[in-house]
Amino acid sequence: MLKNKKIILITIIAVILLTLTGCSNKEEKIPQADDSAFLMDTLVQMRAHGENAEKAVEASMERIRELENLMSKTIETSDIYKLNNSPEMKIDINQESMKVLKKAVNYAEQTDGNFDPTIGALVELWGIGTKNPEVPSESEIKRALSNTGYQYLKLYDSSAEITRPGVKVDLGGIAKGFAAEEVKKVVENYGIEHAFVNLGGNVLVIGDKVDGTPWKIGIQDPRKDRGNVMAIVDAVDKTIVTSGNYERYFEKDGKIYHHIIDPKTGYPAENNLLSVSIISENSFDADALSTAVYVMGLKKGMKFIENMEDVNVMIITEDLDVYISSGLKDIVEIKDSDFNLIEGENFAD
Ligand code: ADP
Ligand code: MG
Repeated sequence: MLKNKKIILITIIAVILLTLTGCSNKEEKIPQADDSAFLMDTLVQMRAHGENAEKAVEASMERIRELENLMSKTIETSDIYKLNNSPEMKIDINQESMKVLKKAVNYAEQTDGNFDPTIGALVELWGIGTKNPEVPSESEIKRALSNTGYQYLKLYDSSAEITRPGVKVDLGGIAKGFAAEEVKKVVENYGIEHAFVNLGGNVLVIGDKVDGTPWKIGIQDPRKDRGNVMAIVDAVDKTIVTSGNYERYFEKDGKIYHHIIDPKTGYPAENNLLSVSIISENSFDADALSTAVYVMGLKKGMKFIENMEDVNVMIITEDLDVYISSGLKDIVEIKDSDFNLIEGENFAD
């Protein structure tokens, strides 16, 4: 009887051991696919794990290309190009571009115009990211400012109209977030449970890592070259979207002119911030929010985010103070002692 029990026990242990090794073998065998490409004016990097990883990555990249073709300001067949170049006319708009336009106008309303998709005239004037950017004259800024304002963008069911010639739509602050969410749909359709996509600082992770631990997302050190991180965020099914003054800028007479424009002044937003990272579930919203909070500045931006559910923010100032909203306490780890962490509740009003 005792002997029998022993045999049963040994068999059970052997089965468990077999299953365990079986598991880890399977883990190792899960195919992985990686790819990167220059799309939507930025470097897109992607990884997926799963039987269909290769196909999923390929289809995702193709999807991003499709969206770029719809929403680019410079591709002449895009919805946005047509809209910008035929003012005072109703232009047919694809349903997907319409979703982005609607969300953009919605955020413009919610953020008191700090986020504004009609920033195009100012973006073109400053030419940041082009070969020869110049500081514009005040009269040029004034003119471009008069051609900025989401009240000049009318949206209908499947068409849109710019009601003032000279006003230009620019979805650079939100389209990458939409693309990230579309990538999520694509990979999930391929049955992928572990993946990430990074569209130039717009990161979305799907599931956890293959080994069951969270993805570790690095927050770029705003003072250093790309790839140097100052903090790590644990992420499962999350997005981390960063807007920073180091992304695209030029320097003139010791002053930095960057690519996030304050629609009220016509100049790059000046509020002593180095970067704003939004950590949440939805990349589409997070993209608009990171740009908006950057323009709003520390106090207004922090308050705005603390009033939203399930959205968190990390704001780095020029003094290297790192302000985090209350939900981030346990998932952010600062890696560099040059930075001082200041948590939500200690935030001085
Ligand atoms: P990145 O494009 O580097 O990821 P953002 O998401 O912050 O950074 O978007 C910045 C881009 O958004 C600019 O290059 C420009 O196209 C557009 N933009 C600039 N200022 C604003 C603004 N106040 N509101 C909406 N979009 C803006
Ligand atoms: Mg953005």
